Amino acid sequence: MDFKLFSKLSALPAASGREELLRAEITKIIKPFVDEVKVDSMGNLIALKKGKGLKKLMLAAHMDEVALRIRHIDDKGFLRFITTGGVDPRTLLSQRVLIQTEENGLIHGVIGSKPAHYLTPQDAAKPITLESLFIDTGLSKEEAFKKITIGDPAVLDRQPIELGGDFFSARAIDDRAGVYVLIKLLEQLPKKPQVDIYFVFTTQEERGLIGAQTAAARINPDIALAIDTTGALDVPGVTPQDYVLQAGKGIGITLVDALTIAHSGLAKHLREIAAKNKIPHQLRVSPKGGNDASAMQKSNGGVPACALSVPVRYIHSNVEVANKKDIDAAQKLVALFIEQCASKKY
Ligand SMILES: [Zn+2]
Repeated sequence: MDFKLFSKLSALPAASGREELLRAEITKIIKPFVDEVKVDSMGNLIALKKGKGLKKLMLAAHMDEVALRIRHIDDKGFLRFITTGGVDPRTLLSQRVLIQTEENGLIHGVIGSKPAHYLTPQDAAKPITLESLFIDTGLSKEEAFKKITIGDPAVLDRQPIELGGDFFSARAIDDRAGVYVLIKLLEQLPKKPQVDIYFVFTTQEERGLIGAQTAAARINPDIALAIDTTGALDVPGVTPQDYVLQAGKGIGITLVDALTIAHSGLAKHLREIAAKNKIPHQLRVSPKGGNDASAMQKSNGGVPACALSVPVRYIHSNVEVANKKDIDAAQKLVALFIEQCASKKY
């Protein structure tokens, strides 16, 4: 895995609905490798790699990440916010944030709290709720109103680090892992693949798979794959039957989650390719979660769809952890799928 490229993608804030900084960077990287690049009205980045036209394959990875949205600026300039996407308020305490303003660039802030030795036992026993949290930017009320607009998003801010055993921790692995895989696939494709491939970097997945829905309607693919992440619960306090996936044990082929039952023929083909080529993989059956595969599956009267899910510990927090080998496995599996999907009937 090219950790330098991943880190570059991870560093760019892309709250749902405000994916423009990341989109510009992706566009710059992929332009030499594709035949067409378009941005639709939802902000999706749709890149076409023309092949021999035997089928239309749509590969989707979402650009957006879970985020905060500023809803109020108080008399001292402290900011109150709501969240977009599933965020546990407990994970927000003592984090740094980056506010994506409309015209004043990125503004740094922190989510602070009263120090422990000033807390009463009653205070200390209170749950951490969204209502109790605030962002401190150092700006006065007047300065804050000048620079920040109500509705501006903020994302969590942190540098990626490499951990032991091919693990790493970073912000927004969900779904920069998928974005990374799509970019690497583009770099390694043959000049004329068998199928036309739409590389779609979608918007607003965390708000309800919105970008993928409109992009799929426009593209009308024959087959659709989402390359995304999912929670790996292989951590202390969880029994093995509830792990769903384990980080470092291979790419997850999603069979069932809360929103989708994968097309059985397509999922079987992916499993066969993985088994035959000794690509580490796991099967994901989860009572929770969903991804762009659901939106693509329901488009245009129905499309065979499946999600490949990179296992991520502590997902939707600022210390997401994944394994480089799982991401490499995803890239390898999709590359082989591209070679073989033309002749397969689903
Ligand atoms: Zn995701």
